Amino acid sequence: MFEAVTEAIVLDKINQGEADSRVYLFTKDYGKISAKITSARKITSKLAAHFEPLNVVEARIIDKNGPLAVDGLSIKKGKRSGGTVKIMSLVKDLAAEHQRDLTLWNFLNKLLESDAESRNLAEALSLLGYDPSFARCGHCHRGEPEVFSARDLAFYCKKCLSEAKEKEEYAIN
Ligand SMILES: [Zn+2]
Repeated sequence: MFEAVTEAIVLDKINQGEADSRVYLFTKDYGKISAKITSARKITSKLAAHFEPLNVVEARIIDKNGPLAVDGLSIKKGKRSGGTVKIMSLVKDLAAEHQRDLTLWNFLNKLLESDAESRNLAEALSLLGYDPSFARCGHCHRGEPEVFSARDLAFYCKKCLSEAKEKEEYAIN
């Protein structure tokens, strides 16, 4: 049976069903893993408290009909800023599952110690395979687009984006 003990950054945590949670982790050794925590929302569950977004945890994950987090101890609490939350959400959406990436791991760890700036978002996109430097607007093909849409996996200029306001967007400059 698969069992892993690894450091992990908690990207996000969502409630699932009556008492379970799902955590999205970026782990040092296995890249992105989405794992279930059972009975996480019971008041007695000390485990879930360690898996708060932006925490770095030492996690033990086993495979039981998919990854299940069975143990976790928070090592440090990351600094919260709007930019950091956005980048964690991008990693949750765009990083490949179960693919170790130490460059991204180191970048995210550094990010948790400071306030994210807009250049960090561009760097994160680049590390995730969407380099903004040579990107063009997915609609009008103009160069230097200002916004990345995580839903479309495409860059847009401000003008084209305003025509489609419902998109989940990330301003890059
Ligand atoms: Zn455009």
